[in-house]
Amino acid sequence: MKLYPDDVLRIAEQQGRQPPCQACAPLACAGWDSFPGTRSDAGLMRVGGLWAPGEDEPTLEEHHPAGTHQWSPQAPIALAYHPANRCEVWQCRACGHPFLRYTEYGGYYEDACIRDLNPDLLVV
Ligand SMILES: [Zn+2]
Repeated sequence: MKLYPDDVLRIAEQQGRQPPCQACAPLACAGWDSFPGTRSDAGLMRVGGLWAPGEDEPTLEEHHPAGTHQWSPQAPIALAYHPANRCEVWQCRACGHPFLRYTEYGGYYEDACIRDLNPDLLVV
């Protein structure tokens, strides 16, 4: 499913304020983190993505008005900027706690990243 910023905002407001349950707590990171390689993501369910294949490549520009960087726990989740602009939203199957996920592509590596979808950090 294609998600629009309003959809992400709604999911974040509805489900992002409750603490993660026992099942998904190990995945809940305030800032972007690598998805633990040893852990299955079977407990999560994909809701949709902000960027659909076939659309123009989203910008790589980042949004850090307060001097944060991409990996800061307090970095804004700015949906028009990298990397949130290419994220997928996933939810815990048990409690509905929402997460953002995207894959960082380096020259010779791929890094699956995950972050809490925290409504307080959203910039729509
Ligand atoms: Zn959960």
